[in-house]
Amino acid sequence: DTIPTDQSLTGLLDEYSTSITGSALPLLVQRTLARQIELEELIGKGRYGCVYRGKWREDYVAVKIFSTSDERSWFREVDIYQTTCFRHEHILGYIAADNKDAITYTQLWLVTDYHENGSLYDYLVNNAVDLKTMLKMMFSIASGLCHLHMPIESTNGKVALAHRDLKTKNILVKRDLTCCIADLGLAVKQVKCTPSTKKDSSLSNKGDAEAVVIDIQANTRVGTKRKKMLLLCQFSGYMAPEVLSGTMNERNFDSFKAADIYALGLVYWELLRRCHSPRPFTDKGDADEFQLPYQDMVTPDPSIEEMREVVCVKKLRPTASPRWQQNSDDTMRIISKLCEELWYDDPTSRLNGLNVKKQLKEQCEYVQRLMDGIDKQPQELQQQTSQI
Ligand code: ADP
Ligand code: MG
Ligand code: MG
Repeated sequence: DTIPTDQSLTGLLDEYSTSITGSALPLLVQRTLARQIELEELIGKGRYGCVYRGKWREDYVAVKIFSTSDERSWFREVDIYQTTCFRHEHILGYIAADNKDAITYTQLWLVTDYHENGSLYDYLVNNAVDLKTMLKMMFSIASGLCHLHMPIESTNGKVALAHRDLKTKNILVKRDLTCCIADLGLAVKQVKCTPSTKKDSSLSNKGDAEAVVIDIQANTRVGTKRKKMLLLCQFSGYMAPEVLSGTMNERNFDSFKAADIYALGLVYWELLRRCHSPRPFTDKGDADEFQLPYQDMVTPDPSIEEMREVVCVKKLRPTASPRWQQNSDDTMRIISKLCEELWYDDPTSRLNGLNVKKQLKEQCEYVQRLMDGIDKQPQELQQQTSQI
């Protein structure tokens, strides 16, 4: 199978964009494309592999290369990207997967869109943002997460997924400064139990409205030890209290979504710190220095036990900067409050992705009106109208 020599990458992807699968390209085309990529520069190193900037014809692509011993991680991540109806503006765009057979070893490739701004972590370490940009970034992350979490019930519907490793290092910044969610290596799918597939009765839960199987790729039948290990692959700093304490109800898929929402709260807190106060419009920005969540409360690369002490026992959360409260503008205070509603101790009390989007949209509109002229916060408006 060959790709016409005048075909561009976007042209190629568009050609198959009607495809309902997550990977728009047929497997053979994926393989052909992957083998025409020239690797140019190492751009990232994670726990599972190295990420390179590569070039295919006129376009840059990102290539994540897994070592052979991590075949399972490669397979998992590729499988998630191939989920039906998976593509979304705010989830990293999948291009191709390939297992290149070298003579002595196999190289496992995952090819995606390349984003020159890199991860949100790298971006925030080097740049502060204004209020409008912060809200835009927050809204795009919430949109990506909502799409991931939401099941679409139809013939070619989409299963619900949870990320399980949401953090600023796993979010990429696009050229327009919106973000996309990346690194799906630990994601899980919700698979509904139909009677014929319900072989293992221990997987169904009478307490839940509908029995679900949390699909932990190829590991479902491996013992709990392996499952626990998978949970421990994350950096403990973003682990939700129920994950740290081992009390999460893994039989209910909503638990996985709630753990993502907790991590989203921490990501938003990192963003808030790097955002300049909108008023007074000073020449010099007043953003706080970049910090990882809990950085000031634990040792670098903390153990689970250390994090559990801080998050579950002492019930501490990242500290709000005084300027978020003092500021005459309300948006930072409201977003700071939003963070608190995302990282509640009780997973069922946390907001869901749709609530988050709604609140952020209100703030985006408010800030826009503010820039167009003097305006009031939506709540104040509501209070005033209810008084009348
Ligand atoms: P791991 O699973 O090993 O953590 P990631 O997929 O998170 O690997 O990638 C590691 C790092 O590489 C990211 O934190 C980011 O800095 C960089 N990176 C990954 N994918 C891209 C991409 N498509 N464009 C630009 N940078 C990327
Ligand atoms: Mg990563
Ligand atoms: Mg990963």
